[in-house]
Amino acid sequence: MTVTIIVHGGAKTISDDKAKANITGCLAAVKAGWEILQQGGDATDAVEAAIRILESDPTFNSSIGATLDIEGKVYLDAAIMESRDLRWGAVAAVNHISHPISVARRILEEKSRFLVAEGAERFALKHGCEMCEPNNLISEEQQQVWEQERIPEDRAATVGCVALDRHGNLAAGTSTGGLENQPAGRVGDTALVGCGLYADSRGACSTTGDGESVIPVVLAKTAVDLLSSDAASADGSVSCHPEEAAKKAIEALKQRVPGEAGCILLDRNGRIGWAYNSQDMAVAYMSEELQEPAAFTCKDDHLAKI
Ligand code: ASP
Repeated sequence: MTVTIIVHGGAKTISDDKAKANITGCLAAVKAGWEILQQGGDATDAVEAAIRILESDPTFNSSIGATLDIEGKVYLDAAIMESRDLRWGAVAAVNHISHPISVARRILEEKSRFLVAEGAERFALKHGCEMCEPNNLISEEQQQVWEQERIPEDRAATVGCVALDRHGNLAAGTSTGGLENQPAGRVGDTALVGCGLYADSRGACSTTGDGESVIPVVLAKTAVDLLSSDAASADGSVSCHPEEAAKKAIEALKQRVPGEAGCILLDRNGRIGWAYNSQDMAVAYMSEELQEPAAFTCKDDHLAKI
């Protein structure tokens, strides 16, 4: 078993001038989570710490820098899950919370539940989570996108993280502002266990992409199921490499629904994989086998290096 962490910055097109910001943001997130894992800390803590960094970075579509809906309002969704006792917590349609992933984490600690809108915000306030005004979440860039009524080619996208700690706990987390110009009241896949994230004793997965396509194929659970899909592993033992399983999961999505999606996947041995059918997806990872974290905006760059 190798202690490992991997983060993503969303399935999207990354223009050359945004590549550096995507890499820098993902590396900062991996480092924050790695510090915890390296000291023998918990995978769930590491996932929360990594996603908090990405939520604070306007390069990504989560918390600060989140995309606006058709009415020019910002709404956030996030969830976290761990393999230990299959605990999870989720929030959706909130806009007075600085770090939705931390509220999801507090819910996980209290009782696995999905809280939305004002109820989720009251829970956050009661538990001392950082609150904010919706305007504090809106970046200049996203305000302009909304005012110009354009969906940029290099749109901001959802963030996620999966990690494995020394004690064998696997955790997954995902956080988003949804889709640009989404209808009022829309909630996507991100905070839905099985769709936007999943973690059990076999592996952990965080997804990104068009929620309306990710939901019907239950993408995150599908990817984790594929880790133990070989005939030889009927006893539930993990045999399929996460690289292969991630690819198969995105392939399965492509065959059944339109739209873009991506996923990062980690198995209980600390092996990683990721796949997407968008043009790019920023990914960074770190494990005990590496000297320093690695980061890529495009899978081909990663393949060229190994
Ligand atoms: N999955 C998110 C949603 O549909 C968006 C994204 O991943 O970029 O809300």
